[in-house]
Order: sequence, then structure tokens, then C-alpha cells
Amino acid sequence: TVVIAWNSTQKAPLVKTRNRALELLYEFQHAAATPLHALRQIAEHMAIEMRAGLRRGGKSNLLMLPTYVENLPDGDEEGLFYALDLGGTNFRVLRCLLGGKDGRVLKQEFEEVSIPKALMLGTSAELFDFIAERLVDFVSREGEGFKTRNGMQQTVREMGLTFSFPVKQQSVKSGAIIQWSKGFDIADGVGADVVALLQSAINRQRGPKIEVAVLVNDTVGTLAGGRYWNEDVMVGMILGTGTNACYVEHDLPSHVQSGSGEMIINMEWGGFWSSHLPRTFADEQLDKESLNPGQAGYEKMIGGMYLGEIVRRVLLRMEKEASLFGGPVPSKLKEPFSLITPEIAKMHADESKNLRVVAKVLRDVFGVQKTDLAARRIVHDVCDIVIMRSARLAAAGIVGIFKKIGGEAFDSTDSRTLTNLHWDSQEPQQLDTKRIVVAVDGGLYEHCTQYRVYMRAAVNELLSEAGAKRLQIVLSKDGSGIGASILAARHSQHRGANKI
Ligand code: BGC
Ligand code: MG
Repeated sequence: TVVIAWNSTQKAPLVKTRNRALELLYEFQHAAATPLHALRQIAEHMAIEMRAGLRRGGKSNLLMLPTYVENLPDGDEEGLFYALDLGGTNFRVLRCLLGGKDGRVLKQEFEEVSIPKALMLGTSAELFDFIAERLVDFVSREGEGFKTRNGMQQTVREMGLTFSFPVKQQSVKSGAIIQWSKGFDIADGVGADVVALLQSAINRQRGPKIEVAVLVNDTVGTLAGGRYWNEDVMVGMILGTGTNACYVEHDLPSHVQSGSGEMIINMEWGGFWSSHLPRTFADEQLDKESLNPGQAGYEKMIGGMYLGEIVRRVLLRMEKEASLFGGPVPSKLKEPFSLITPEIAKMHADESKNLRVVAKVLRDVFGVQKTDLAARRIVHDVCDIVIMRSARLAAAGIVGIFKKIGGEAFDSTDSRTLTNLHWDSQEPQQLDTKRIVVAVDGGLYEHCTQYRVYMRAAVNELLSEAGAKRLQIVLSKDGSGIGASILAARHSQHRGANKI
């Protein structure tokens, strides 16, 4: 709850505007609310869309893309492999020395480069030339202590390419870009084979021979990286700049063939939409002015690229209509994307009595020199609403996946069935009792403690006690890149040469 702090040095009319700011706060809180009944509907809807998206020609707002990853890591992977992880704010290159079951990840090393904004909106050749140059440079500087059986004679370096956009894959190492998101918009890239784009850029560099052994979405890399350590990992999820999830599907439709009988499906859940999603004026504005209007509706409520921007739009309205910061409207407050999510996470984590951190962020980001405590409390509340909404919506998505693969019996509204199944039934079903572990990567989940708390709480609300126990959510830090190098090892064509 917000308390209006009355400061005697302030002029009287401020009270009125403060009341208006509070009104706007309550309005926003109401519009952005995620009560349990809405989350239940969203989870249910997610499961329905998953089923529809899997069917050939089925209508769904989830792409449910086959990944051709049919064999998951088991720890036996061995050798020196590379990965390139592209698609968020940064891209990273890494090398990973895998020692098999006993050694696991013997050594790893990475470099991170932020992508110049212009390259996110240019041509595919510009983007991939930039990336290939860094990649080739990194690979050429053979890491110290990364020795293969042939020493430095390694003739072909194999890598996993983690590409964090939707791709229609033709095989485990090829696929056409479907569309961009998260601030990327490279028109000539759509429809092109992303591996071919990278490969020709690498060739233009005339460096060492590098081959892409696998192409994976970041969620898939995360799942694989998690599975490498824990065989119960069934879901990979990203809560970073964007959001998405993938999972291991056993019940494959007939048009998706898999030798092992299972395959990872990339849901592209950022595109999910449901009338139960709590949409506010800020979401509508943001969507309209985005590079991909009408698309990625769920992502725009959850992803780190957008949370700060939603808060900014709410604060701007409060400043315009209620002089939240005392006017005139600071120009930085009018600038799209001037407030980034790490800053709202900082404000949200502020536990000081006077909200000193909130004051500092408002000063540093918007140039608002003086704020009163009442205004800072409102700002803090707006951050809380936006972060909590994101976490709870993501939780509903996870529960939707759980409903699809974990058996319906674990809905909290159905705890009796659960009892029947597990304690009374003679033949408990294996799949229904197995743990389901969700491996999560991404800055939002990693850096915002309260985010994790909110998400877990919502999962617990949505599931029965037994269901909640079965569902584990674990952080898989940098899992998407490491996972890609592990999958490269699994799909290696030069296994002997790259062995240690
Ligand atoms: C992309 C997904 C990706 C997710 C997380 C989304 O914008 O469409 O492919 O997995 O972001 O990076
Ligand atoms: Mg990433």
C-alpha cells in the first residue's frame, strides 16, 4: 500500500496531483493484475495451443517448431567444441573442453561482445561479418590448456550455433529464419538459412576451418545444457531479453519423425496470446510503436527488453497527468527505452526506508533531481506490479507445459484424482510421478531474486502440493551456449579429430 507523505515544504496543489497519481497507480494495478483464476485460464490455454500447434496444419499462436534434436546429452560427450550464442543484447563465443562422464566440462572460456544497435537493423551480411570476425579471432587464439588428441593439429573446429529467433529447421544443422524479434529487424535475413549466412561470413574471413555441427534455439541449448547434468530436465526456458520455452515431446505427431521417439520442440511461446492476459494501456502503446506490432504479445509482457519500457510509459503518464515528479516532463522520460530493466530491478530491490536507490535511479536515468518519498513509493509499486506480472505469467506458461507433458491429474483443482492415482492405484504411471525439471537461463531470472520468488509462488498456487513438488525450476547459467557446444559434440562429424 502507498502512503501519502505530506511534506510541509511542498505547495498545497500537490496533494491533488498526488491523489491523481494514486488513482493512476490503482488503475494500472487493476489492469495488470494476475489473479489465480486468470493464471489458471492462461495455463489451460497454453496447453491447448501446444496441442493445436503440434498438429499438421493446426491453428495456433505457438509455432511449436521441430528442432531435429532427438538425442539429448548423457555425459559421454568428449572433445573440444565451440559455440556461438546470438540473439540477445550480446553475443558470445565460447570454447568448451568436454571430458566425458568422469570429466564433464573440463575447461571453458568465453568472450562476450555487445551488438551495435545499427547492426540489428542492417543487412544480414553486415551482421554476420561482424560476428564471424569476432568468432574467427576467438577461435584462432587457441585457448591455453585446450588440448585435443591431435594437439594444435585440429583441422576442423566444430561449433554449435545458438540462434535465439524462430527458425524453420530442415535438419539439426540448417534452417530458415522465420522472423525477428527483440529489436532485431533485418529484412533480407527472413527466409534465409542462418547456418549458410554464418558459414559464408566465416569463409570470407579466411581463418581456420570452422563448421557448424548444430543449430539450436537458446531454449534448446539451455535444455541440453541442463540435461547434461540432470536427466530429469525436460524443459528449457529463457527469461532474458526475450522469453521462450522448449520441451521434450514424446507424443509426436506422425509428420514429425524421430529415431529415438522423442524430440525437443521449440514452442516460441513469446507469440502466445490469450484474452486472459492482463493488457494495460502501456502494453498497447508499446506494441503499436514496436518493430513487430501485433506479434510476440506474451513476450512483450514478460521479456526484459520490455519491462523497463512498460514502467517508463506508466511513469510518463503519471508525470503528464499528475505531475508525479513535479513537472516539467523530463525529456529522458519521453525517450523510448531510456529505462532499462536492470534499473527497474535495482529500484525494486531497494529496501531502504527512504527508497534511496529509487531516488538515485530516477536522478541518473531521467535527470529528476528531487523526488519526494510518496512519488518514490509509487515508482517502486509500478516496478513491483510489472515484475510480478511477468513472473506470474511465466509461471502460468510453465504450468501449461506441465499440463501437456506431466499428466492432467496434477491440477490443484483435482487433488482427489491425484490421491487416487498415486496412493490407491495398484499401477502408478511412471511418467506421472517423475520429476520434471525446468532449466532456466536469462538475466531476468538470474539477477532478480524477487522474480524467482514470485514465479515459484505462482507455480505453487497453480499446482497441487504433489504437483508442485514434482516441478523443479533450476537456474542454468550460460546454459544456452554450453548446451550448444555439448550438442555439437553429440552431432560431431569429426569425432576422432576433436577428441581429447
Ligand atoms: C525468440 C526466441 C528466443 C527468445 C529468448 C524470442 O524473441 O523468438 O526464439 O528463444 O526470444 O531469447
Ligand atoms: Mg541469450
